[in-house]
Amino acid sequence: NPFARADYLLAAHNPRQLPPDGGAEVAFAGRSNAGKSSALNALCQQNALARVSKTPGRTQQLVFFNLPPHDGRYLVDLPGYGYAKVPKDLQAHWQGFLDSYFGSRIALKGLVVVMDIRHPLKDYDRQIIAYAAERGLPVHAILTKADKLGRGAGLNVLQAVRRDLQGQYGDTVSVQTFSAESKVGVDELRKLVAEWLGL
Ligand code: GDP
Repeated sequence: NPFARADYLLAAHNPRQLPPDGGAEVAFAGRSNAGKSSALNALCQQNALARVSKTPGRTQQLVFFNLPPHDGRYLVDLPGYGYAKVPKDLQAHWQGFLDSYFGSRIALKGLVVVMDIRHPLKDYDRQIIAYAAERGLPVHAILTKADKLGRGAGLNVLQAVRRDLQGQYGDTVSVQTFSAESKVGVDELRKLVAEWLGL
């Protein structure tokens, strides 16, 4: 598992704090509580890796994780979106930062969007997917907490979400089911992210 040694590097609050743009990185996004931290922890086989992203003050930063021994390869934890209470000026700061990050970051190879399989494709999910896909960035949606649904019901959601997103964006977008609890789909996610990073 190329992610087993993942560890915290830095949290960036503005473009100047980003590590040099010379390597390869994959960003993770999701609504708060969707299961993003659990998915990152499952990917890396660690219990507390993504906890650092949730410490107060870090919830509005891009959190970078190193992947030793692969210098310059990163996992990037984007702030959970869908918070109602973020002040307006902070929201504007974020929009600007994310705009420049998505728009100009050469190292960014793909976006993983984490959605609760019981509540997929909310407005914020659609926004960030559109944002990335329209820039030609590959997007991989994971429908997590699949253990909460029966297999048949889970497959129905998978097909519906896939039809919806691929209807709009074609093969720029892929979709899978996932569970940090039962570990369904962990290998599939690991394989894709490793491929994007050239590992
Ligand atoms: P985040 O806010 O997106 O980082 O979400 P967390 O990873 O902190 O998860 C939010 C809640 O959902 C927690 O109570 C987790 O234990 C739970 N959760 C996350 N992933 C799964 C999963 O695959 N299955 C189940 N049953 N619960 C999950």
